[in-house]
Amino acid sequence: MAKLIAGNWKMNGLRADGIALAQRIADWTRAERPSAALALFPPATLLAPLAELLAETEVALGGQDCHSAAKGAHTGDISAIMLADLGCRYVIVGHSERRQNHGETDAQVAAKAKAAHLAGLIAVVCVGESEAERDKGGALAVVTRQLTGSLPPASEAANTVVAYEPVWAIGTGRTAAPADVAEMHAAIRRHLVERAGAGDQVRILYGGSVKPDNAGELLAVENVDGALVGGASLDAQSFIAIAKAAPGPQSTPGET
Ligand code: PEP
Repeated sequence: MAKLIAGNWKMNGLRADGIALAQRIADWTRAERPSAALALFPPATLLAPLAELLAETEVALGGQDCHSAAKGAHTGDISAIMLADLGCRYVIVGHSERRQNHGETDAQVAAKAKAAHLAGLIAVVCVGESEAERDKGGALAVVTRQLTGSLPPASEAANTVVAYEPVWAIGTGRTAAPADVAEMHAAIRRHLVERAGAGDQVRILYGGSVKPDNAGELLAVENVDGALVGGASLDAQSFIAIAKAAPGPQSTPGET
């Protein structure tokens, strides 16, 4: 499968800058036809203009969060069905900044992912251990617990992407060592295969300070099916360099 390079802009980007950034990425995609699949996750204020701008391109659009309900008295929230209605294909749920800053639990994340599935979106379900948890040797147990609690029963390759993002690597300039990434992604793969049909087809992204100079090494690790990129996705050149670093899809036997 093609690697997925996803740009999480977080709470960054005013109208003119955001549109210019998306335009540069869309133009490059049109000109170069990269082997990687691309998706942008702008702040909610930029979803509508980007939906229009990206409509005829290969660049997919996603929301950074959604509510678990389809509609109702939830001031400030956005439902998955609203994102789908705008033209989004993806929505991130359970990002560590939501888990930390908004106290989101695994059960809430699972409810959001379920809402995303019902709306026809692909849920990008984020998991990852803190530094203290890794130092105590508990990283695998934490991530397994998060997966168990955050993936709704109907999760499968067509509606789910898992993003492994060690919390201590997000926005810090520190990345997990490729050997640790390989170990964690293999454990996530085993979990997915055991719980879901075609779990071997679910994309598993790595996130945490992915930059042009480390992207090639990280994206070459087994079971790393793409990257969730924060800071470096705010610069078109860096985001494009990361997409260029992604190896092309592996051909499967019999495929032409
Ligand atoms: C993220 O927030 O998902 C992320 C990986 O951020 P950064 O690339 O800035 O570490």
